[in-house]
Amino acid sequence: MVEAHMMKIKRTIKYDADRVGGFGREIMSVAGCDQLPSCIQCGTCSGTCPLTIYMDFSPRQVMALVRADFKNEVLRSNTIWLCASCYSCTVECPRQIRITDIMYALKQRAIKEQVYPKHMPIPILAKEFAKMVLSKGRITETLLVMQLFLRANWRAVLSSWRLGLGLITTGRFVIKPERIERQAELDAMLATITNGNGKGKA
Ligand code: SF4
Ligand code: SF4
Repeated sequence: MVEAHMMKIKRTIKYDADRVGGFGREIMSVAGCDQLPSCIQCGTCSGTCPLTIYMDFSPRQVMALVRADFKNEVLRSNTIWLCASCYSCTVECPRQIRITDIMYALKQRAIKEQVYPKHMPIPILAKEFAKMVLSKGRITETLLVMQLFLRANWRAVLSSWRLGLGLITTGRFVIKPERIERQAELDAMLATITNGNGKGKA
């Protein structure tokens, strides 16, 4: 009885009041996401997706939740981060819905609103990757991995210091960031794409 009292009880059924009006429309206004209204909930995407069994919401459910404005449920789900962008669902969808692009739009929104699961390394990697490309025009893989470990699991870096030192001394671990030559041109392109706000947007 005491244990039951201490259990964290969470409502699983969603109410109309949980919706965030306009969210679905905003996602559908992103380039490539406009076909979502024609989803017939056939479940082909979920059946095709190799990662559905690990997701808290299947791709079909995510499509339904977005359309119905369940913003918090979708942006906080692990589904969008487990999506490996394999495009199987997009290829098989009978309504030509670009599910993978919708997953990307949701990831970008979750990062922008800082509501991604903080313990998962995938959003950290996505954010650091984008930051590096925006500031240097390219990524330096070793530094990217280092950033990922420092933010996701810094203890792992400490425990691997001997390996890291070996890699640095043999020249296999590049510590100088690589960059493109004409960064200003990239900045101009990004600014055009993002209406003048290219820098720092992940
Ligand atoms: S396969 Fe396409 S139509 Fe079917 S549930 Fe998935 S998104 Fe909707
Ligand atoms: S693109 Fe993502 S959601 Fe679609 S099948 Fe691949 S992993 Fe699953």
